[in-house]
Amino acid sequence: MGKIAINIATGSLQQAEMIVGIDLGTTNSLVAIVHPETKKPVCLKEHNANSIVPSVIYFDEFDNITVGEMAHDQLELNPANTIFSAKRLMGKSYNDIKSKAAYYAYKIIDDDTESLVKIQVNNKFYSPIDLSSLILKELKNRAEHILKTPVTKAVITVPAYFNDAQRQATRDAGKLAGLDVLRIINEPTAASLAYGLGIDTTKEKTIAVYDLGGGTFDISILKITNGIFEVLSTNGDTYLGGDDFDKAIVDYWLKANEELQELYYSNQSIAQTLRLQAEAAKKQLSTSNNFSTTINEFQISIDLDTFNELIHPFINKTIDCCKKALKDSDLKISDIETVVLVGGSTRVPAVKKAVHSFFNTEINDSINPDEVVALGAAIQADILAGNNKDFLLLDVTPLSLGLETMGGLMDVLIPRNSKIPNKVSRQYTTQKDGQSSMRISVFQGERDLVKDNRKLAEFNFTGIPGMPAGLPKVEVSFLINADGILTVSAKELRSGIEQSVEVKPQYGLTDAEVEKMLLESITYAKDDMATRALVEAKTEGEQIISVTEKFIQKNTAILNKEEILATANALQALQLSLTMTDKNLIQSKIEELNEITRPFAERAMDAAVSNALSGKSIL
Ligand code: ADP
Ligand code: MG
Repeated sequence: MGKIAINIATGSLQQAEMIVGIDLGTTNSLVAIVHPETKKPVCLKEHNANSIVPSVIYFDEFDNITVGEMAHDQLELNPANTIFSAKRLMGKSYNDIKSKAAYYAYKIIDDDTESLVKIQVNNKFYSPIDLSSLILKELKNRAEHILKTPVTKAVITVPAYFNDAQRQATRDAGKLAGLDVLRIINEPTAASLAYGLGIDTTKEKTIAVYDLGGGTFDISILKITNGIFEVLSTNGDTYLGGDDFDKAIVDYWLKANEELQELYYSNQSIAQTLRLQAEAAKKQLSTSNNFSTTINEFQISIDLDTFNELIHPFINKTIDCCKKALKDSDLKISDIETVVLVGGSTRVPAVKKAVHSFFNTEINDSINPDEVVALGAAIQADILAGNNKDFLLLDVTPLSLGLETMGGLMDVLIPRNSKIPNKVSRQYTTQKDGQSSMRISVFQGERDLVKDNRKLAEFNFTGIPGMPAGLPKVEVSFLINADGILTVSAKELRSGIEQSVEVKPQYGLTDAEVEKMLLESITYAKDDMATRALVEAKTEGEQIISVTEKFIQKNTAILNKEEILATANALQALQLSLTMTDKNLIQSKIEELNEITRPFAERAMDAAVSNALSGKSIL
């Protein structure tokens, strides 16, 4: 139990620190708590109102802000001042969303195409973080009004496919809204918590969570053992959802009516009306066979068969993602015992049918698919409040994380699909005598050469005490916390000098980019292997040259002229081979040099040993 507080207005006793769970959705957002008396999760709502808060923000001409249903009503009347789907812009540059820009009826600034997008309303500029914070502030206010207590702590959910930058942006939005974000958790993990899957700790269960919302699609394969939720793999598309169904219906109507088409392209408010009518049609078709209405004297209609045909390609795309997720988890379809349906779009019968026939197993759809994520977030909040110790959550990394080593090679510390939180350390050393700094470059991706991967961060680890090459022990650690945020630290073990950076990339990768990187890693696997072998041979050659040169300088006394000459020749041959791209040639030159120098090394050892035996230091 936390502290007890008394509400002065009502005189009632209440728990001081209520942690809320928030589903910050692309289309709809909700806030939920675990009820202190019933111990059951509930979505918060005013009496007679809906728990769903549309993720829409309206700015009037004086920059007054309205969020939720009232803002939703402005979509048609004030398209330029009414922001929807801001979550889809989180962590994106203008270049990332260029191809979709026409979809947004408001103004997205396009002059600086590389940096994070800004949205202009009236004369002010807003980032997606600002906009998300406005939605979170509204949820916070509603929760405080309903609970009659301050709400300052929250658990917020994000799509499983959100990268570091997008998670960080969500956390920042929470901070801006005055919320201490205790944990960012994946939506599918929250949904499975809500279904109480894993309560029976005697059974191991493998499940799939299929989440089709308004703007994002996620498929996650989870394994639940002893109350522990482990995400085996995730796949999805942050540009696929019910919005696409709406758009397909709009396009269908426009194709059928040229006059309507003209009006649509000349009048933004008609465009919005059509979008909203398309959504109404889609929802109606979840329970009936026909939809028809009139817009500006135009009669428009659509039947279920046509709708199913229109959305068929989108459903197929989601099933392809399911196949990929299964492949990544090394499972067969028959290994999946249960499927959980999440997101308003899973109410579409054709979606349910496709998911059922693909997985061919039991489908969980008893909890309201709009609320299930928020309910799970509330359960996680309850766990963090210390009220529920039955669960532990584990998530996974979508791409491998590693360091650049000699020759531009990627040295993977945390492989893709590793569990988080996670910590991995590895020791590195210096290449040159007296080297006092080391460049630590952090990369994300699956390719063997860092130039083909994505740089996340770079820092110069300085202050290494002067030592011969190879002697310093620099331990580099990668720590991913439960939110998926990476901290990289380096420590020189002999001196204890330490430095670290938190990796907050400017903006992250789109799903398409993640997929492209994965595909390329397969396509180029052979080339990469050959390149890696060549780089390794070159690095080895360079090291041997440097060691041999040093050895000769130190030990001229025990070598004769012929030996020095032979070594110099072999060194030169090796040096020359390094300028070419033939791995085998380099290796044969290394071998030739070794043949010549091997006896010297033995002789030097003998000399050292006899020195030691005669009481002198070998150092
Ligand atoms: P998000 O998580 O992206 O915010 P939601 O899970 O709230 O989205 O789902 C919103 C989507 O669900 C919207 O595209 C909405 O049109 C769709 N939706 C809601 N109810 C229905 C329904 N009865 N039939 C079909 N689609 C629906
Ligand atoms: Mg959702």
